[in-house]
Parts: sequence; structure tokens; C-alpha cells
Amino acid sequence: MKRPLLLFLLASTLQAEIRVSTDFEGGNAEVVSLDQTTKTLRIMPGLHEGRGWPCWWFFKLDGLAAGDELTLEVQAQTRPFRESQVLAHTWCQPKHAWLSRDGETWAPGEAGTLNGDKVMVYKIKAAAAQMSVAWGPPFVPSDAEKLLAEIAAKLPEAKRFELAKTRGGRPVNGIRIGDENAPHQVWVGARHHAWEAGGSQVGRGFARWYASDEAKALRAKTCLHYIPIMDVDNAAIGAGGKEAVPRDHNRDWADEPVYPEVAAAQRMIRAIHEKRGLDVYIDLHNPGASDPVFYFGPFAFERMTGMQQRNYQRWIDLSAAHITEPVPVQPKYRFATYVKTDEERGRMSSGWVRNHTGDFTISVTLETGWNSPRMSVEGYAGIGAGLGRALAAYLAENPRRE
Ligand SMILES: [Zn+2]
Repeated sequence: MKRPLLLFLLASTLQAEIRVSTDFEGGNAEVVSLDQTTKTLRIMPGLHEGRGWPCWWFFKLDGLAAGDELTLEVQAQTRPFRESQVLAHTWCQPKHAWLSRDGETWAPGEAGTLNGDKVMVYKIKAAAAQMSVAWGPPFVPSDAEKLLAEIAAKLPEAKRFELAKTRGGRPVNGIRIGDENAPHQVWVGARHHAWEAGGSQVGRGFARWYASDEAKALRAKTCLHYIPIMDVDNAAIGAGGKEAVPRDHNRDWADEPVYPEVAAAQRMIRAIHEKRGLDVYIDLHNPGASDPVFYFGPFAFERMTGMQQRNYQRWIDLSAAHITEPVPVQPKYRFATYVKTDEERGRMSSGWVRNHTGDFTISVTLETGWNSPRMSVEGYAGIGAGLGRALAAYLAENPRRE
């Protein structure tokens, strides 16, 4: 009786087909080819027209047996994402593909190799019959929901709020931690660029640190307004967002924003500043492959004087002292000089905030690199915790002092 069973098992193993699915939050992959015999899958990031860079990919694999080796090939999307612009292949080719069995814990696979045809080739060892595979550790709207619920449960004084409904009808949610009339007011948010998932990972590390006992003294005198994902629509469908049509979220801070969530953030920040003054605005990004961790500071930094100059300098010094693991933050500001006109500079989120707040306000973007196994869920969280400690040290000095 053993033989027929064995044959049956063999037959079903032979028939098992590798399947690729993307019909879930943040999912994105366009299958170029799939060879069941050699277990070779070629994908490119799917194009969502007008929704920015096609660089993010995230899919589920079924039909493998534990121990199988899959060859994953990733190439650039061939069609233009905006007018005639085709995105360079490097943006969709991290050194490591990120793998998960449960969708919660993510680890880098073996380093890939770039072949002569600009295709990145990863060897993936299947650890289970179903695996998730992604460009980097994902952070999707349901992760934001989980995080906000976790913090609200931990801190009774925290109040969740809906910043806005997107053009796609999705809620953009945030949380306020602390008394609205607290002496210090802080705004932290991520994902003006949807594909930069690491920005939200840093944000989660920051938020968890902020809700921890270590931050008790900071919470007592501060009101934090925190938004885990700004571009919820693109994060939900796995689109890149950056350089979307007519413009992306980060360039939408104009007098008349295209996106309701940007308009709502402007209204809230104006109201906070009028009522109590805004001390710190931090926008979290995750742009560059080989970039270290750094801040974009104000273009006018070298010409600043008095309180403004002092506060920006203290911020970068204290950040350098506290953001050290797993990668230290650079102790000097960089400037987004590739943005050429004052008009465009003024409608970048951090620029708009500078133009609509006070002398004691600092407004910066924290830019984390992504192309390293150290940029894991835990690694990004370490940077977020360091950011929290820098904030505590900075506000302890009272940036409003003369
Ligand atoms: Zn960005």
C-alpha cells in the first residue's frame, strides 16, 4: 500500500505550480516570464500610469517546496512613467531581496548579482510553501492601523484622528499624543513618497520609542502629531508616488494642493502654530541606494542668524549625538540643491512649513538610505529611537529661549 501513496505524492509534487500574486495591500509585480521547469521568475515593477516611479515590488509566491531554489530576475519597467521618462533600472534593484514567511518578520536574502543586461538576479531559498518577497521591508496602510491602535491602547492620553480622506476615498490617519496646549509642539510624518517604505519604518521606531517609559518626561511637556503614511493611495496599490502626475505629495505644498491630505496637514500645522507655536517638523524619507543617513536642511542655513541658526545647529549636533545605530546620521546638513526654483522649493513640505511658522521652528527631512541589510525593520527602528532621543535632548534645552 505504500507505493501508490508515494507515487501520488510524487505526482502532486511534480504538478505543483509556482504562482505569483499581488492582489493585496502594497502588492506590485508585473510577471515578464515564469519558467516552471527551471524555477526562474522574471518580474518588473508594474506601471501605474501617472502614479510615479515604477520601482517598488512586493509579491507572494506559492507552490514552492521548502528547500527549493528560485531564481528571481528583476528588470526595469520598460514603459515611461511620465511623458517619455523611463526609470533607471537601479531603483528597482536593491542588493538583497527581502523575504518573509509570515508577512511580519523580514530578512534579506542572499545578495543579488547584476548581469550584463541590467537584470538583477537573486537566488531565493524557499523556507515555506508560501513566501512574501519584496524590494524592502514593506509598511502598508494596515501596518499604520496596527501601529496607531497599539499606541492608543498603551497611552490613554493619545487621541487618534483622521487627517483627511484621500482622492481614492481612503482615510489618512494620525495620532496626537499629549495635551493640545502643551508647551512644545512637534509634527512627525512619513511617506510623502509612497515607495520609501523605510521612512515609515523609521517612523514606527520613533513612535514606539515615544510611547515608551524612556520618553515619559518628554511626553509630559510635548504634544506630538504623528502621521505614519501621507500618500495612502499609492502605498495601498504599490505605486511609487514619486514624480506622480501632476506632482507628488512632497511637491504639493502649494496654495492649492492637489491632495486633500496635504491641504489638511497645512490647515492643521497653521492651527497648531497659531495656537501654541510649532517647535519641530520632521518629514521622513528613504530615497537613496547608497546614501547614508542624513538631513536635508534649510537652503538659507549658512545665512541664518540668531535663534534660527542656533536651533538648526543644535538639532544637527544633537541628532549626531543620538542617531548612531545601526548607521550614524551625518553631522552636517545637506541641501536639496537639485530643486532649482524658489517656487518649487516653497512647495516642498519642509519648505512650506518653514515659510509658515516662526523663528524658533525647525523644519527638516530625515533621509535614510536603503541598500543595505542593516536597513532592516530593526535597523530602521533603531534610527527612529535615536531620533526620539535627539528630540528629547533638543526640547530639554527649550528652543524658544532667547
Ligand atoms: Zn522622498
